[in-house]
Amino acid sequence: MTNTLFDALFAPLAGRDRPLMILPDGQEISGDRFLRQVARLAHALSAAGVQPGDRVAVQVAKSPAALAAYGATVALGAVFLPLNTAYTADEVDYFLGNATPRVFLCDPVKRAALLPVAQRHGVRVLTMGATGGGELTDLAKTQPETFDAVPRGPGDLAAILYTSGTTGRSKGAMLSHGNLLSNAQVLADLWRFTAEDVLLHALPIFHTHGLFVASNISLLTGGSMIFLPGFDADQVVSLLPRATAMMGVPTFYTRLLDDPRFTRDLAGHMRLFISGSAPLLAETHRAFEDRTGHRILERYGMTETNMNTSNPYEGDRRAGTVGLPLPGVELRIMGEAGPLPPGEVGVIEVRGPNVFQGYWQMPEKTAEELRADGWFITGDLGTQDADGYVTIVGRAKDLIITGGYNVYPKEVELLLDEQPGVLESAVIGLPHPDFGEAVFAVLTAQKGVQLDAEAVLAGIRDRLARFKQPKAAVVVDSLPRNTMGKVQKNLLRATHAERFRLS
Ligand code: AMP
Repeated sequence: MTNTLFDALFAPLAGRDRPLMILPDGQEISGDRFLRQVARLAHALSAAGVQPGDRVAVQVAKSPAALAAYGATVALGAVFLPLNTAYTADEVDYFLGNATPRVFLCDPVKRAALLPVAQRHGVRVLTMGATGGGELTDLAKTQPETFDAVPRGPGDLAAILYTSGTTGRSKGAMLSHGNLLSNAQVLADLWRFTAEDVLLHALPIFHTHGLFVASNISLLTGGSMIFLPGFDADQVVSLLPRATAMMGVPTFYTRLLDDPRFTRDLAGHMRLFISGSAPLLAETHRAFEDRTGHRILERYGMTETNMNTSNPYEGDRRAGTVGLPLPGVELRIMGEAGPLPPGEVGVIEVRGPNVFQGYWQMPEKTAEELRADGWFITGDLGTQDADGYVTIVGRAKDLIITGGYNVYPKEVELLLDEQPGVLESAVIGLPHPDFGEAVFAVLTAQKGVQLDAEAVLAGIRDRLARFKQPKAAVVVDSLPRNTMGKVQKNLLRATHAERFRLS
């Protein structure tokens, strides 16, 4: 009997002595030891009542044990449901109510606050602390070190990941064994991952990037991971010499560029730097190449689809683009009347074995975004050029419609970013009595610069149609970002909502 994901990612670790994980303190965890932990946790979760098909919700710090809990859930034929560690009790209340998991694994520190929430939904609580200890590990200690994985096929659910939900309630994206395995296989092949690789893994594992892109690829190819609890420049600088590849969000790379210890010598031996989850500025791409000689490989994906496009491993990695559709993934740019020709901006749609099974218990939302013929409406706006390269210009919901004209924030942001003294910018639409929405810019200044918002706007005046020019701008210390480095435009819109309202 087979279990699609377990057989490909976890079962091959049996007997493997080489390290699957290297921890910041130098401790190494062999593949075999990790698999034995997976087996014990699977028995423990089973003893706690988890049955095939049940959801296992997990809101714990990143640790080897937390990743083993993912393996254990897959082995049990259950559905792994990781939650952002920043979620509050109110948010957890929604997720537990929506997903009705059998077990909720939480940080011991939060147990008292979350227990009543879980009890309200009839969910059993078990703890797992930052170093992996807690009620679940205690329960697992005396369990056998092998486990017969429950049979599961490619169409069975392996995970539910909730979308970040910036416009309404989060939706649970249902991902099958086949979704996850096919994407890991394509990416491992495209990016040439092998058992010789040592991946510097500083991403959270509650999100598709760190859990599926990074961890699944390493598990699949039998490589090692330098498994860091989070991004810490000191740790990255000291451990980079042991790594061959790194995956990160753009802020990891800008932080490294800010660090004088991050030199060409330090990065010289690396095989690959990959970026995704948020736009990597072309300027960062260039600065990185100037510093290290490496061209960062940018790719694009989302919770619902895993990865969709990637710049090539060999060949032209084009700064400011997210590259070409992955092998097996179809991509089109849709306008109101149908697919658009190269160069035109429309909504990106994708279809392929990577695309999710729908939103958990939300058939209407699923029908709105996932067409019956398999095309998923990503909600991202972009173009594809004649060579197939895709460029993202923003989320459809961030599109600004001012006086009936469409303004793509990215076009304005790119010009603002070029202005002297500007570090970065975010362009948003705000309610306006005449125009419906008005273009508004939020700017941050380069170190030591006193930025004059008016002067910045004057600097782009000749370069943009009048309707695209921001009606006003403010300078702030920093842009609000979520853990994956995405600028939270919904927060900016809320903060500045009254700006153009008539008083
Ligand atoms: P999430 O579901 O949290 O992974 O967010 C997915 C969204 O992140 C996508 O729909 C894009 O809007 C954005 N995204 C991911 N990768 C990139 C990228 N390389 N460039 C620009 N936006 C990206």
